[in-house]
Amino acid sequence: MSNDRRPPRTTSDSGIPVGTDGQSLTVGPNGPTVLHDAYTVQKMQHFNRERVPERVVHAKGSGAHGFFEVTADVTQWTSAAFLSEVGKRTPMFARFSTVAGEMGSADTVRDPRGFALKFYTEEGNYDLVGNNTPVFFVRDGAKFDDFIHSQKRMPDTGLRSNDMQWDFWTLTPESAHQVAILMSDRGTPRSFRSMNGFSSHTYLWMNAAGERFWVKYHFKTVQGIENFSLAEADAMVSEDPDHHRRDLWDSIAAGDAPEWRLEMQIMPFEDAAGYRFNPFDLTKVWPHSDYPPITVGRMVLDRNPANHFAEVDQVAFAPARLVPGIGLSPDKMLMARVFSYHDTHLHRIGANYEQLPVNAPRCPVHSYNKDGGMTYRHAGSQPVYAPNSYGGPQADPSKDVPSWWVEAAEIGRYAYDLHAEDDDFGQAAALCHDVMDATDRAHLITNIVAHASAGVSAPIQERVIAYWTNVDPEIGAGVAAGLGYGHEAQAA
Ligand code: NDP
Repeated sequence: MSNDRRPPRTTSDSGIPVGTDGQSLTVGPNGPTVLHDAYTVQKMQHFNRERVPERVVHAKGSGAHGFFEVTADVTQWTSAAFLSEVGKRTPMFARFSTVAGEMGSADTVRDPRGFALKFYTEEGNYDLVGNNTPVFFVRDGAKFDDFIHSQKRMPDTGLRSNDMQWDFWTLTPESAHQVAILMSDRGTPRSFRSMNGFSSHTYLWMNAAGERFWVKYHFKTVQGIENFSLAEADAMVSEDPDHHRRDLWDSIAAGDAPEWRLEMQIMPFEDAAGYRFNPFDLTKVWPHSDYPPITVGRMVLDRNPANHFAEVDQVAFAPARLVPGIGLSPDKMLMARVFSYHDTHLHRIGANYEQLPVNAPRCPVHSYNKDGGMTYRHAGSQPVYAPNSYGGPQADPSKDVPSWWVEAAEIGRYAYDLHAEDDDFGQAAALCHDVMDATDRAHLITNIVAHASAGVSAPIQERVIAYWTNVDPEIGAGVAAGLGYGHEAQAA
């Protein structure tokens, strides 16, 4: 905001010049305010409606504009138009967030971070709604609401509860891999710029010849990974609760545009059935030695929002928003999210949310959807039904979402089919044992002990020890000692 020009004239929302912003219309100097002071009444009404409901998860976020640039030829794997040529740039918007905290919560608390991307492509908006972790706490959408409830607030006290969190996690062993990352120092990133982002889910790419590939996206920070220790993160909660938001804004404002390298893991379609892990299970990664990451592009964020509400709060991502050449996979969490995101935006922002500037596609829209709540863009004289004989838009079967084939089977409530090395603890163990160094492991134990000491009941602490012993007996023993349990930890 600058003061170097003559300010414009204040108007009502109808554009009518306004006489005052200081005195409401009253009957004499000491009399009651009259209702026909329409300007003041409208001002109050508008103020009363300034907030939309906050997101149930990922409420506190920060965002920026930028671009995605293709750096390697990927046409052998996908026909997506925005990925069609080396050097091609697509404008985009990114939103980073904490998950469990509310709008005003502190940025540096232990939590996964949202990593949501919107690509404004020439074939419509493509959204990739990921996190800063390659896996998730649960592998079936049926468990999602319960998981989130356990991370939020108690119904009676309105307080967060570590007891509730560990109760859910230890009763849900598939959470171990994600909890191991969360409890490591990656659970408290130093800034949004210094963390990676992942699609986490497996998606499908299809090339122009119709050949299909399972893929995972990894956005690797060019700034380098940097995390806070527990003590540093805790200190920053009081020093600057908006630390991550400020850091992102300041770095872009100073011309220091953060950048991420996009690396893809690409699995031939036929490999999935016989792969040693279920490739659609969101609690698992594909080890790099099996599917080495291939660098294909870069994302640069170089412009701050002009208005936080209109861009960072009203931006709405949805994994259902796929462009030709990109499809879903049989990941059960992904299926649930495909429904859930659009549904929540309709409720939170409004029926016209896709027409708001930050969400609006930057390519022509020719849809047969019409009228209804707050529709801003109308079809004019275009026919309102398909098929029609009057030149209305026609669908193109070659642009349909790529899909996959499943054998006919009985509809039921199934666990995933198990692959040779599927279990709940193996990949968490690989992380703690093979990837982390001694300092990482020592910090992991410190972080777990601090978290599981705060208001966690004895029976649940016993389960916390068993859970970590299943991941790695040494970590289990360290947690047991830290929590003051003298006995040898026993795996459940
Ligand atoms: P690699 O040795 O090839 O890769 C290990 C990966 O772990 C690196 O990408 C590294 O990311 C990342 N990493 C290092 N420290 C942490 C941490 N505290 N929390 C989360 N990630 C971390 O191993 P594999 O591919 O064989 O996988 C072994 C284990 O590594 C997995 O079980 C998984 O827990 C973890 N991992 C694997 C990923 C994958 O897609 N294969 C992705 C991320 C983690 P960076 O380069 O950013 O430091």
